[in-house]
Amino acid sequence: MSFRSNILRKINSLFKFKSKPFSIIKPNESEYIDMSKSKIIIYIIDIDKNLIDKKKNLLMIFDMDFTVLNENSDYEIRDLLSKDDRELVANSKDYKSWADEVNAYFNRMKLRGVTIDDIKNRIQRIPLTDGFNEIFHTIRQIKLLKGIEEYKNTNLDVMFLSGANVKYVNWVLEKHSITDIVDDYISFSCKDIDGKLVVGDYHSHSCKSCDKSLCKEKAIKDYIDNIVNTKYKDTKNFKYDKICYVGDGGNDYCAGIAISDINVNYKNHLMVRKGFILHRMLYDHEGNPRPKSKVLKCEISLWGDGYELSKQITKNFLI
Ligand SMILES: [Zn+2]
Repeated sequence: MSFRSNILRKINSLFKFKSKPFSIIKPNESEYIDMSKSKIIIYIIDIDKNLIDKKKNLLMIFDMDFTVLNENSDYEIRDLLSKDDRELVANSKDYKSWADEVNAYFNRMKLRGVTIDDIKNRIQRIPLTDGFNEIFHTIRQIKLLKGIEEYKNTNLDVMFLSGANVKYVNWVLEKHSITDIVDDYISFSCKDIDGKLVVGDYHSHSCKSCDKSLCKEKAIKDYIDNIVNTKYKDTKNFKYDKICYVGDGGNDYCAGIAISDINVNYKNHLMVRKGFILHRMLYDHEGNPRPKSKVLKCEISLWGDGYELSKQITKNFLI
């Protein structure tokens, strides 16, 4: 088998495209192999390979609302209701959890004839934060490198950890064509029950700071325990060399706690969006660290949009 076919075979298997053939332009070459007369997808590897270590296990975790997306999905869909209806739901004090509150909005929507398709369309209209298309492009490039022999030990896993719900996450992945680069996602469960969405807790936990539906510290620690025993079960003593978590909100603080505790070969990074709640939790208005940031043992980087984040990822995470 030629070197080139070997690359294609590996990448096909990596992306599970066995029945959807595609072609690749090998780095620094301007030709490609047709794999099918019916459909050809061409990927061009244009990343600076010097940015990537040849043997590194990396995990990137993204929050979704106000991070990947430039809005909060749960707030956006409330516009599908009238102002009166929104106030009626908002003023009710019956909620024991975030999931309860979200379900109250869904109940009202069902009553008003708002369909699941209406909700999906609304979610899919939310734009990505500026610069995230470039970040996803870089991630796809790094994942493609794995098909090349010298980078076969480079693993970049990508996970979404969202306080929205699994349906929203799926709709976002589909809309922005990133299902191929996001390996896993964790969010609230969400079911279609007789044309109405119903969300449920992700897990139970003992964290005092988090809503009862989800604590990101436990979610990340459980996820890593799980991946070591599943995806990497055949890799002796597998552990990630470096983890970065990208987020903005108060519930992302527990993610910072998680990556502070996880034993890795390099320092982990918490990448905090400037001007949002997590930033204000960690620093005062003059930029001095607050006690909560001193608790964290990971590195902290700040970013405003995806372009700035991209630079942080390149400088602090990939190398
Ligand atoms: Zn927590």
